[in-house]
Amino acid sequence: MEDKITLVGKDIKYLEALMIENGQSKFRAKQIYNWLYLKSVKDYDSMTDLPAATRELLKEKTQLCSISIKDKQISKDSTIKYLFEHSDGTYAEAVLMRFDNRANLTACISTQVGCPMGCTFCATAKLGFTRNLEAEEIIQQIFLIQADTGLKITNIVFMGQGEPLLNFDNLIKSIKIFREQFQIGARRITVSTCGLIPQIKKLAELDFQSTLAISLHAPNQEKRQAIMPVANKYKFDELISVLKKYTEQTGRRVTIEYVLMKGINDGIEDAKQLAIAISKLKSNVNLIVYNQNEKSEYKKPSKETIQKFKYILEASGKKVTIRLERGADIDAACGQLSSKFKNNNP
Ligand code: SAH
Repeated sequence: MEDKITLVGKDIKYLEALMIENGQSKFRAKQIYNWLYLKSVKDYDSMTDLPAATRELLKEKTQLCSISIKDKQISKDSTIKYLFEHSDGTYAEAVLMRFDNRANLTACISTQVGCPMGCTFCATAKLGFTRNLEAEEIIQQIFLIQADTGLKITNIVFMGQGEPLLNFDNLIKSIKIFREQFQIGARRITVSTCGLIPQIKKLAELDFQSTLAISLHAPNQEKRQAIMPVANKYKFDELISVLKKYTEQTGRRVTIEYVLMKGINDGIEDAKQLAIAISKLKSNVNLIVYNQNEKSEYKKPSKETIQKFKYILEASGKKVTIRLERGADIDAACGQLSSKFKNNNP
């Protein structure tokens, strides 16, 4: 049987060509496009302004998605974790977060099946690496969350499974579709990286308008390389200086992410060193309290330690936020995405 064309991820030009090729009016493409990206309907019969014949044609020749929702868990705080199955039987996860009193709906999405970076504290790292996701597979995560909830995603963070900058072209392609098709503003999209220097330089050249977040997690080279193997290749000082150039080239501030782990990187000396290291870098700091689960080797610091750390950075003039923990009861919290299904490596 001939494979069906997957619609979600295609741009308006593609849809127009598809309509014309099949003897349909060109303007049907725009209608389909709206149903896909603005409304994200679950099926063709919901595309109510299309003639029945057009819907039949679509059913025969196309499918909405190549990925599907395999499992879904809802947390007490209403965070939802999705497990998506791809056509080759691999899995990746995404998380939808609603923050009370805010209209924002943030989706945290994946770019790879597993991850090759090997950060010692991260659950995804334990899966190893299987493959990059296709741009369409990345895009369909947002589509399926919208279709499933009937809600419109307002913010996207590339902080799910994988290292986004290792899947560079598909990352850029998917951001283009999120901006142009889903109409999510560039400033509402954040890409998080463990610090791949060549790719950060490439982003600067692209005039990247979304937010770049760096998982720094340590105040110096020695501590960083003990928990993040990537630091053996790209040294701490060089990373900071490349980031400085990045902020000059793009005119955009970066976000420094720092996971606080008890006795590892949460001391007063660590905070002071960090403050000095990033003092000349146009940046905000996002402190993440280490998320523990039963398999974690590390522990989270006390509230007092966290506040002291925050205070030292603030005193140095930085804007500091503490990331709220979401979905901890369903292992959807930051850094805990690791499918419990076994066939990540089919
Ligand atoms: N590879 C990218 C994207 C992953 S984003 C990156 O490294 O930035 C996921 C974020 O959660 C990263 O900052 C990661 O270091 C952090 N993280 C991993 N395990 C964690 C844990 N157990 N608790 C809190 N944060 C964690």
